Amino acid sequence: MYKRENTKQVHIGKVTVGRGANVSVQSMTKTFTQDIETTIAQINELAFSGCEIIRCAVPDIQAAKALKEICSRSPIPVVADIHFDYKLALEAAKYVHGLRINPGNIGSDERVKAVVEAAKEHCLPIRIGVNSGSLPHGLDNSYTLAEQLVEAALREIERLHKFDFDDIKISAKAFDIPTTEQAYLALARKVPYPLHVGITEAGTGYSGLIRSSVGIGSILSQGIGDTIRVSLATPPIEEVRAGWEILKSLNLRQKGVSIIACPTCGRAQAEIKNLALQIEEAFRTIDKPLKIAVMGCSVNGPGEAVAADLGIACGEGKGLLFVRGQKIAVIIEKDYITALLEQALLF
Ligand code: SF4
Repeated sequence: MYKRENTKQVHIGKVTVGRGANVSVQSMTKTFTQDIETTIAQINELAFSGCEIIRCAVPDIQAAKALKEICSRSPIPVVADIHFDYKLALEAAKYVHGLRINPGNIGSDERVKAVVEAAKEHCLPIRIGVNSGSLPHGLDNSYTLAEQLVEAALREIERLHKFDFDDIKISAKAFDIPTTEQAYLALARKVPYPLHVGITEAGTGYSGLIRSSVGIGSILSQGIGDTIRVSLATPPIEEVRAGWEILKSLNLRQKGVSIIACPTCGRAQAEIKNLALQIEEAFRTIDKPLKIAVMGCSVNGPGEAVAADLGIACGEGKGLLFVRGQKIAVIIEKDYITALLEQALLF
């Protein structure tokens, strides 16, 4: 797949972003940041599930100060999410690995300059997070929304350039997928900075997953995007799992098990949905990339799942265990998961 390679690299703590680096999975805590223990617990859970960069909301000075301990204990880099009050950015900059500011609401050049000086002092990149719901004033209303997103981002890049700062990452999110896609395509052509891709306020679990997958997937599939976040109104662990599934679907990253479950049909001899979920759960802590097929019949199953590393083609009460399309044993139903785990160790 084509990958935009002419980007500047930035470093968010230990994570390299841009030019040749992996596309990273990002999420955002949904705790009160000043509740340090709860926030740390959520970050640990997300890191364990594959989150590589975490963003924390900084609504007040208590939250900004809490970042000191949160960052010292977080296993992954922390980005402070700042709106309106530039002083919060100045406090957070002492502790975090990156800043995200919304250009529409930070205010005067003096305030932006103060944030830039803090970022320089602490070697932090700044993400300019443009959002269709909070565009700055003064944009040309005759522009399309995509053009306004781009214009807002370019203006803020100019402001940071004015203070001799280019350690920049950009996002330009909207709810509408074609709008978001147009904005990212334009930005990819116009600026050398890495791009953080997401669909804003994508929605609840089901519709949000589909909207985010289509939107983020369509942009990534054009070789554009350096970090992603799937924004969902669900526990953030779902965002991380979805992010990884999007990257795995596009062969951009590999991590853990991908379950290939047949859709079942009139030939099915077993209940596949629960079995597939049980297998997925049993393999959740295994990072080794593996494709495991769970097929509903033993006649067509192995052939239909020839691309899988291993799998079970289920008959009545027993099934064929197969490895790379070759049948290797007949297994009784209660031993399916054990047999798959044993085979996985051999890969
Ligand atoms: Fe139907 Fe068997 Fe194919 Fe599943 S594997 S869809 S049960 S033919």
